[in-house]
Amino acid sequence: MTIRVGVLGFGGLGQAAARVLEAKQDMVLVAVADREGYVFNPAGLDVDRLISVYRDRGSVGYLGHLSENAIKDLINNAAVDGYFLALPNLPNTFMADVAKLFIKSGWSGVLVDALKRTSAMEQMLALSKEFQTAGITYLTGCGATPGLLTAAAAIAAQSYAEIHSVKITFGVGIANWEAYRATIREDIGHLPGYDIQTAKAMSDAEVEELLDRTDGILKLENMEHADDLMLELAGICSRDRVTVGGIVDTRNPKKPLSTNVQVTGRTFEGKTSTHTFTLGDETSMAANVCGPAFGYLKAAVALHDRHINGLFTAAEVMPSFVR
Ligand code: NAD
Repeated sequence: MTIRVGVLGFGGLGQAAARVLEAKQDMVLVAVADREGYVFNPAGLDVDRLISVYRDRGSVGYLGHLSENAIKDLINNAAVDGYFLALPNLPNTFMADVAKLFIKSGWSGVLVDALKRTSAMEQMLALSKEFQTAGITYLTGCGATPGLLTAAAAIAAQSYAEIHSVKITFGVGIANWEAYRATIREDIGHLPGYDIQTAKAMSDAEVEELLDRTDGILKLENMEHADDLMLELAGICSRDRVTVGGIVDTRNPKKPLSTNVQVTGRTFEGKTSTHTFTLGDETSMAANVCGPAFGYLKAAVALHDRHINGLFTAAEVMPSFVR
């Protein structure tokens, strides 16, 4: 049976997600919501039209319905098996608020997010029981980091008796920051002297000004990233052994460095070693976020079909492969 998919948020990641789905037989994109409206078509949506209307008029609602409560209205009016939440988490409680909308609506199905901050994922964990009661299977942290790299670390850890460190280093290259406004704002929130509130409050001109001062480069160290919580919950190591940092170039689609995760540990023979998993430089952030997100969405549907509901992280469940 084809999985009917909805995408919430139609910015950089949401549009890439729609493109990823175009080539799939296992899934069909039937619903999209953005800040100003939503569209639903059980027969499937035309991605070229969605993207051109969003670009020219600012909302997919012009192909469906304009609404100030787009997500709520979509939940109530669409038949969807699973949603990918490609939404900004600004403020840091936004995604948990969206999850509560689903719980309140009486909807049952599958949700996946590509949430980044540990404190945001903790809010999701607190909703675990409510997801279960609502009949929702929620997979959190299903992007690249957290996501693909966290899951790779969970697998790499199997060679060791004890894990000393998990070090995630990412390189992101994008041609212009405006294609991924929320991602860049949220990254700015990790810079020294900034937090998520100050980043959210910055005007586009202020973001440009900051990027002008740094030549378009954001250098991020010791980020608050939920990979730490996910690996701790999976019983792999305590969260203080996990570090995440990276470099984002907002003016060049070429990656400034190769994204990788290094897992160092001690084997049962007493040897210390490091496994390194490196992503291909040609794979974009969008490919490494949207691919896993839908792989986990498919895995979540299989769990949901077996009446297994509640909250899981991407380090707990294997993603399926979406054909
Ligand atoms: P963006 O700014 O390009 O787009 C955001 C979209 O959300 C827009 O279409 C906007 O209309 C919509 N939106 C905002 N408020 C809304 C509301 N109340 N109701 C409905 N729609 C609303 O965002 P982006 O750069 O694509 O990033 C999306 C998220 O993905 C961010 O939170 C980012 O941190 C996350 N992300 C995760 C990873 C990972 O590896 N885990 C990597 C990159 C980005």
